Amino acid sequence: MKKNSLWKIVYDRFEQEEEGLREAICTLGNGYFATRGAVTEAVPSERHYPGTYVAGLYNRLGTQIAGRMIFNEDLVNCPNWIHLTFKIGAGEWFCPSVSKILSYHMELDMQKGVLSRKIRFQTRKGQKTLVEEDRIVHMREPHLAAIRYVITPENYSDSITVRSMLDGAVLNMNVERYRDLNFNHWKPKAIGKFSQNGIYLSVKTSQSKIELCEAAKLRIFFGNKEKKPLIEILKHGKQVIGQEFRIVVEKGRSCQIEKIVSIYTSKDKGVKAPKTAAIRAVKNTARFHNLFKTHQQAWAELWYKFDLQIEGDPFSQRVLRLHMFHLLQTASIHNTNIDAGLPARGLHGEAYRGHVFWDELFAMHIFDFNMPEISKAFFMYRHRRLPQAREYAKSEGYRGAMFPWQSGSSGKEETQIVHLNPLSGKWGTDSSRRQRHISYAIAYEVWNHWKRTKDIDFMARFGAELMLSIAQFVGSLVYYSPKDARFHTKNVMGPDEFHEKLPNSSERGLRDNAYTNVMIVWILLKAKELLAILPHNYKTGLIKKLKITSKELRLWDNITKKMKIIINDASIISQFDGYFRLKELDWLKYRKKYGDIHRMDRILKSEGKSPDDYKVAKQADVLMLFYLLRAEEVQDILKRLGYDCDDDLLRKNYDYYIKRTSHGSTLSKVVSCFIAQGLGRKREFWSLFLQVLKSDIYDTQRGTTPEGIHIGVMGGSIDIVRRAVAGINILDDRIKITPNLPKSWRKIRLTLCYQKRWITFEIAKSKVKIHVSKSTSALARVAVEINSKLYSLLPGKTFEASLKK
Ligand code: BGC
Repeated sequence: MKKNSLWKIVYDRFEQEEEGLREAICTLGNGYFATRGAVTEAVPSERHYPGTYVAGLYNRLGTQIAGRMIFNEDLVNCPNWIHLTFKIGAGEWFCPSVSKILSYHMELDMQKGVLSRKIRFQTRKGQKTLVEEDRIVHMREPHLAAIRYVITPENYSDSITVRSMLDGAVLNMNVERYRDLNFNHWKPKAIGKFSQNGIYLSVKTSQSKIELCEAAKLRIFFGNKEKKPLIEILKHGKQVIGQEFRIVVEKGRSCQIEKIVSIYTSKDKGVKAPKTAAIRAVKNTARFHNLFKTHQQAWAELWYKFDLQIEGDPFSQRVLRLHMFHLLQTASIHNTNIDAGLPARGLHGEAYRGHVFWDELFAMHIFDFNMPEISKAFFMYRHRRLPQAREYAKSEGYRGAMFPWQSGSSGKEETQIVHLNPLSGKWGTDSSRRQRHISYAIAYEVWNHWKRTKDIDFMARFGAELMLSIAQFVGSLVYYSPKDARFHTKNVMGPDEFHEKLPNSSERGLRDNAYTNVMIVWILLKAKELLAILPHNYKTGLIKKLKITSKELRLWDNITKKMKIIINDASIISQFDGYFRLKELDWLKYRKKYGDIHRMDRILKSEGKSPDDYKVAKQADVLMLFYLLRAEEVQDILKRLGYDCDDDLLRKNYDYYIKRTSHGSTLSKVVSCFIAQGLGRKREFWSLFLQVLKSDIYDTQRGTTPEGIHIGVMGGSIDIVRRAVAGINILDDRIKITPNLPKSWRKIRLTLCYQKRWITFEIAKSKVKIHVSKSTSALARVAVEINSKLYSLLPGKTFEASLKK
């Protein structure tokens, strides 16, 4: 990545081995669909993967593996719409990976939402051509995308043949380790042409029976003059359709080709026939520059709300914008019309099969604060799946709603039962579905959405049902032991996926996982608060609907007083029952031997050992608690449960667990970085923060980002800046600001919508400037705490406070 404007990611050389990463980083999308930033000229191969994904478009396939049939639901790679190339005379088709490149420049302009390339290449005959491309996936018109492709012969005049395609012969091949499983999701339906310059391609998924149609229109210009050459239609079976035309080009004169594309599916609201809709959409579109104009306006409106400005640190600024850019391309206002969750790897690749995990927990704050309609769309994705979550809970002997660890289209559990270890090449059982904490995350998100928005209407109609159903579930997850007069949990896994069970135990899952037990208490306490704020009719209606009995409410209360947490004399919270008895790992030895030890689980397994036996965490559960809850909240819960609580709890636990964490998940560094900052460990914070920022743009996990960006780390990095660096924290009754800017940062500027009031914060080292917008319906004052002083801010006025103590 080359340094350039604070809005751009620039690459000045074509590097074959980097293409996968660049394709993910340069993905363009609008929440409805996204397309990887693959080179236009390529067809899918080991080097190029021009994937396109439509939010919520999944298909399920079965594969016979290890003697049994397993089924996987995948976010489906859709027909490749970007293909466009040309050849000079009878020469070879141009493609950067095979042609002789004289110069190459690719840039992603995040402000305008455009991917541009400028390439000069030379044929064997010495013909030099300049190729310039601009590509957009329209942010305002969710079904539209467009390419402007300009060919300028530098030292020759000749005929050129241009070929454009809609390629439906695509497979889900992005992730190498999934290639043992079935990956052919589409059945051809129809191909054809319309008007003089349009083609379409219709396909249908094999199991979910979703029909998708792509339509494309080509226009050719010399200057402003449109040329209408004879366009020949190419067909390959019923799966690929192309257009080809021949035109004479003159030295120094540019030929501009515009390809406008639309995508519709049978899932779209108000669309009966995707083909009719897709053709209609492109038939009447304006030229590229008109589309680009409205597209830029849509981005400008987004950035006005979402931009996070950092003065003094160009690298952080650029990467934080990149993170925001990809979050806004994965989740947009269009999600309000789509039934889809927020996939952990964006709409950028096929890792984790496009499934939805708990990663949204790290990103939801962005939408809550700047466009809460998007968060609500994701809550509705969960709410619509409450019946399945109830069935899932029931099937495991619980009450309420238990959401699946991985979900796709139907709301059923999508976690695999066998998993391939790429190091050993062996398939092993996968217990990760025992991560019941996905449900705690949803409850946590709902409550925070409420705190940030005070949207009682949404809470009463949908949020409360989610939270209370989850409260019922967690209330039934515990069991009481008369031996110690405490409530316990068993058979669960925490976010640390390295530990699936106790050594030599036949029982799967863990007992008294601290993350689980503390979060259960937190959820039940919040459920009580929720019942107190719900409008009476909604409250009684829900209690009736969910059959919440007074006995159950008493049980919840009891759990919040008697849950078991294991803490040793040194105030270290045990990750689970038995953790302290596990073996210590020789970290030095492994670091020396393997270098990269992020995935210690895979390393240990490939050596015939089990991570279950060691004090080694992928991401430390216990620390995660301190990311979600303030240290005082954790302490209050522990005190409420009757445990002696050390004031130094956070520091002690951080020091203990950070040494035993391999950060096998990018989320782990987000959590550790956040805590390091809270503890005032400036150097540690900065080192972790840089690692967080670098993880996707430089693919520091080596090979994961080409399979999709990491939504959690992208949302988490912005959360770190807001809560830990700008120090803006939402308490129950006020906003508390405790900034702690890194050395090089001069100022942070950001805007948030807090309880229906737009507030702009400018945070410098020595002062804080806050402006509460007047143009809001709610004119109430905003309570803010700075340096232990309380202020009541009046809308319409700018407030300044010194940070000097
Ligand atoms: C992490 C999970 C995460 C998942 C999807 C895993 O590696 O351990 O916490 O939800 O990736 O991003």
